[in-house]
Amino acid sequence: MDHFLYRDGVLHAENVPLTEIARAVGTPFYCYSTATLVRHFRLFDEALAGTEHLVCYAMKAASNQAILRTLAGLGAGMDVVSGGEYLRARAAGVPGERIVFSGVGKTRDEMRLALEGGIRQFNVESEPEMRALSEEAVSLGVVAPITVRVNPDVDAKTHAKIATGKSENKFGIPISRARAVYAEAAALPGLEVIGIDVHIGSQLTELEPFRQAYQKVADLTEKLRAEGHDIRRLDLGGGLGIPYTRSNEAPPLPTEYGALIRETLGHLGCEIEIEPGRLVAGNAGILVSKVIYVKEGEGRDFLILDAAMNDLIRPAMYDAHHDIIPVVEPAPGVEQSAYDVVGPVCESGDTFAKGRMLPPLREDDLVAFRSAGAYGAVMSSEYNTRPLIPEVLVNGRDFAVIRARPTFDEMINRDTIPEWL
Ligand SMILES: *Cc1c(COP(=O)(O)O)cnc(C)c1O
Repeated sequence: MDHFLYRDGVLHAENVPLTEIARAVGTPFYCYSTATLVRHFRLFDEALAGTEHLVCYAMKAASNQAILRTLAGLGAGMDVVSGGEYLRARAAGVPGERIVFSGVGKTRDEMRLALEGGIRQFNVESEPEMRALSEEAVSLGVVAPITVRVNPDVDAKTHAKIATGKSENKFGIPISRARAVYAEAAALPGLEVIGIDVHIGSQLTELEPFRQAYQKVADLTEKLRAEGHDIRRLDLGGGLGIPYTRSNEAPPLPTEYGALIRETLGHLGCEIEIEPGRLVAGNAGILVSKVIYVKEGEGRDFLILDAAMNDLIRPAMYDAHHDIIPVVEPAPGVEQSAYDVVGPVCESGDTFAKGRMLPPLREDDLVAFRSAGAYGAVMSSEYNTRPLIPEVLVNGRDFAVIRARPTFDEMINRDTIPEWL
């Protein structure tokens, strides 16, 4: 459920008509709903009620500081995957002890940043990383709390580009080698082993892969404890999928996911961390765009929008489907026709949808891409010297620009021309 609904014939974000925001900020723009963000965070938090836990929002999904602050105010921790994300979370007011640091290629500079600034734990992904982290911690006179990310070799049954838990993926340490790696970690002077980490992929629409992974983690916990490791925290990653269309079957709910966690791991008495990103932000955001032209093609009509693949890359990158709906509610029973929905960028890949059935649309009409809150704005670029589009946060009847559109001067003046030219 989200808070983007038609009211009086116009699509609203909570209590604000999107036409009003479009007039104020211009198109295209991203728009997020506070109520939806809050609702989704609480679903996870409540799904783990009664178990000691921390929900660490995977901020790579949507990392605007206003979103981070909204979630942090509810008690969220953050999962960061770079030094930049760490600093952004801190700037949004998240204390270090609620930040976990994930990622397969943390640099020594990034490690020092987090060790000096304060960190809840590092999820380490390789032996060389472990050794580097120990050295950096020793040189700073601190001890780094760590989990080791294990790769359980399960099939997440998701898009190949977002599956991370098979042995052919670059992530984590093969679970078969975990005991040797933990033995080495325990012997390193700068590290304190506190738990185990796993994250098998994104947009999972079934519980079974989670079950397989978590059973392997339970088994490993017992083995490691028997070898003297004090395993007291389990970081279970993110990955629960969202419905991208109204028609398809809904993925499992956070409550079912929480029940699975209790069932597979509850007996171990560990503190539980989860790192949802997409489910928190995905359906809490939309992308609003304007029709530039309707172009008649051969056997198809093209709806040419002012948004493009540089603003929302998911269709080009993952063949992702986004529902596209008119901002002005179509009359009931109006006849729909097929459009190829495209952007102005000079690539055929700049196609959002092919043969999409839509009500009649004309120049200057507004459309909204649903489910665009996660992996939307954060993956945008300035390709074709197109400015990064504004982000707007709605809260009840209020809205605020939380990232402004840069001017062309700001963009162009970032280049410097060498003096020999
Ligand atoms: C991307 C990622 C997540 C979040 O995945 P979602 O599918 O957005 O929930 C969590 N943990 C790690 C380590 C990740 O890389």
